[in-house]
Amino acid sequence: MTFQLPIVPPARVTGLVAGAPSAGGGPELPVYYPATGAQVSALVEDGPEAVAAAVAAARAAFDKGPWPRLPLPQRIEVLDRCRRIILDHSDELARLECAATGLVLKELRARHIERAAYNFRFFAEYISQSAGQRYDQTPGYMTTVSRVPVGVAALIAPWNAPVALATMKLAAALAFGNTCVLKPSEQTPLALARLVELMQEVLPEGVLNLVNGRGPVTGAALVADPRVDLVSFTGGTETGRAIMSAAGRNLTPCTMELGGKSANVIFASADQERALDGALIGIFSNNGQQCLAGSRILVERPIFDDFVGRFVERAERIRVGDPLDDATEIGPLASLPHMNRVLGFVDTARADGGDLLTGGRRRDDLGEGYFVAPTAVRVPSNAADVAQREVFGPFATFLSFDTAEEAAAIANDTEFGLVSYIWSDHLPTVMQMSEAMRSGVVWVNTPMMRELRAPFGGFGASGVGREGGASCEAFYTEERTVTIPTVPPPLRRLGTTND
Ligand code: NAD
Repeated sequence: MTFQLPIVPPARVTGLVAGAPSAGGGPELPVYYPATGAQVSALVEDGPEAVAAAVAAARAAFDKGPWPRLPLPQRIEVLDRCRRIILDHSDELARLECAATGLVLKELRARHIERAAYNFRFFAEYISQSAGQRYDQTPGYMTTVSRVPVGVAALIAPWNAPVALATMKLAAALAFGNTCVLKPSEQTPLALARLVELMQEVLPEGVLNLVNGRGPVTGAALVADPRVDLVSFTGGTETGRAIMSAAGRNLTPCTMELGGKSANVIFASADQERALDGALIGIFSNNGQQCLAGSRILVERPIFDDFVGRFVERAERIRVGDPLDDATEIGPLASLPHMNRVLGFVDTARADGGDLLTGGRRRDDLGEGYFVAPTAVRVPSNAADVAQREVFGPFATFLSFDTAEEAAAIANDTEFGLVSYIWSDHLPTVMQMSEAMRSGVVWVNTPMMRELRAPFGGFGASGVGREGGASCEAFYTEERTVTIPTVPPPLRRLGTTND
């Protein structure tokens, strides 16, 4: 079996510096369509010199160009034009995203591309409302605090939802007047390369630059450049550690949106049908490749067997297959090494005394693509490797609990702390659990309800800093305090004594 390509992408993708193709300098790296395993494009890696040129272009655009100085209504207008560009090219962008990620096209259109457009609208509206502060407690003086752009923003994106995640960074960085160098994942450069190209039509030269290549080469050169003023990173925890250490040498501020191992806690007092739907969405949407996946499903003991039985029955009916088919619910995983890594967790679960409940195998009846059957394991304890490490695939790990205290202890027994899900219609249990959770986000009786004005980010190994309205304003601007005497009071006169 072989599946049709969503689009014929350009044979070669390059970076973009001040609106012109970047110098590259590195090798060509293949880009594969995960549904067939066939190479569909290649990117030209940007080496240190090409990265330095991209940073220089962003630096010049910030130091001398119009963007940071543009009157607010004009900046809002440009952001709105970026939104319209995305909507006008939504089919092309969705297909390019599909060609590198293998995510289901219908989902890409409905969620990722829509969200990308909304990110620009959200920050355009945000900056139209935001105001400075004024203090005048000390008589005769006025103190104002204004927020000014930080400078050159290095934006580093992962492969699991490239356009949706990178546009959150791009829209925020641009809205607050910064200039940007974007580095997409080397696995998934296609849609972002096209978007950056399209955005050149409406942005002044050098405001948005693109570099492509592997993390330790292109990404590392970008982060180490002392002309970069901030780093916004979404990706794995180990990469986050490396980037923060490198950025620390230049005292470059960072936000880190990292991995997760989120607990999905299901009480007997929950609406069982809703909790089941939520648990399935929590672990299987986006092919299971998402930081906020509810990957550890904790079920209260009296309902455990029934809940798990129904979960497995539904998981086995999930339609895995062609990303272009509207009936498909799960597409392939993003790459061959990633698929092998995900499947490897079946062995580690068994080695820790776990049982495979369903899946755990490649769907090779679907051809050469990286398809995995929706998988669930039950492990005897939260110490199991598969309960501690991020799998990042369609792979649920089940545990049971007896009391809310025990559920909270298990949920918090992790180095991560991105999201917690709680399912119960018993208000005291909901309140007790939501207060006990050591995570940046708690979702009660709902999966994945992202409110863009609210902070999103994690405790512990899930990240540093937050994304969201005010959090982005704080990160993408510097505060400047100006004090002016309104009625200049007399000053102490040093050096005026006569003896
Ligand atoms: P990754 O860490 O391997 O790569 C992310 C990006 O960092 C890529 O562009 C990569 O090229 C770059 N990179 C790698 N090494 C680098 C270095 N030394 N210097 C600079 N850049 C470097 O992550 P991934 O595999 O692409 O994405 C999956 C991970 O992302 C998962 O762990 C997932 O949980 C996390 N994620 C987190 C969030 C969140 O909001 N918290 C959202 C999505 C994904």
